[in-house]
Amino acid sequence: MSYLKIESVQKTYQNDKPAIVDFSLEIPKGQIVSLIGESGSGKSTLLRIIAGLENKNSGEVFLGEEKILTPKEKLVPGYDEIQLVFQEYHLYPNSTVEENIGRPLIQYDKAYKKKRIDELLKLLGLDAFSTKLPRQLSGGQQQKVAIGRALSLEPQVILLDEPFSSLDTIQRRELIVELKTIFKQLEVTVIFVTHDLDDALQMTDSLVLMHKGKLLQKGSPESIFEKP
Ligand code: ADP
Ligand code: ADP
Repeated sequence: MSYLKIESVQKTYQNDKPAIVDFSLEIPKGQIVSLIGESGSGKSTLLRIIAGLENKNSGEVFLGEEKILTPKEKLVPGYDEIQLVFQEYHLYPNSTVEENIGRPLIQYDKAYKKKRIDELLKLLGLDAFSTKLPRQLSGGQQQKVAIGRALSLEPQVILLDEPFSSLDTIQRRELIVELKTIFKQLEVTVIFVTHDLDDALQMTDSLVLMHKGKLLQKGSPESIFEKP
């Protein structure tokens, strides 16, 4: 069983107070974890470390048996198996929905690419928008395109960094319900960073609270909120 394991990770940026302090966490395959904490508590840094996009001072990250190497240790930083999605959609404005989703599939042949894009369009309910440009879509639909692109290489892990912060509450609710179903169907392991407790609870199997770089508490929402 493949899972994500973060072992005693420590990170201090140049001449600064520690951003991540002795952080350890194990996430079983296919679990969704919501990570909450105030601004500056180290959430984005932690995601970048997990994705292999940020150096750390000590500690390790494992995906199954594989040790995640840092930019210092790896020629091309990052991993196809671990994809990050941000608040900003970073779509190519002059490329269609299907072109945006298929972008990471550059090394695959045309037939596979088409098949994979079609699967993703269907999964995300974007079939009708395949030849539209990003600006012709709603914010929620654009974020779905970004998530489709992140899913295109069949990653095991998706890291969502405040992905819904530009959307209104109704759009967020709908999208969270829809995406949760999709992530569960694909058995992808998800870390969902948000500062919205309602969003966190909607999406999650378990909650992790982070404060000043430390893991403050973790557990099911029930175990965290129903303690005497
Ligand atoms: P969060 O995502 O919870 O807002 P961050 O991971 O962005 O937290 O930041 C954690 C701490 O690390 C903050 O004190 C922030 O100022 C600092 N930090 C983040 N990125 C950098 C960077 N590139 N260089 C220096 N300090 C940084
Ligand atoms: P968030 O809270 O969403 O993580 P921030 O505003 O903290 O966003 O950070 C936005 C960007 O600025 C990130 O790329 C982060 O690495 C960088 N950053 C944050 N704090 C610092 C800092 N003290 N010095 C340099 N870069 C920073």
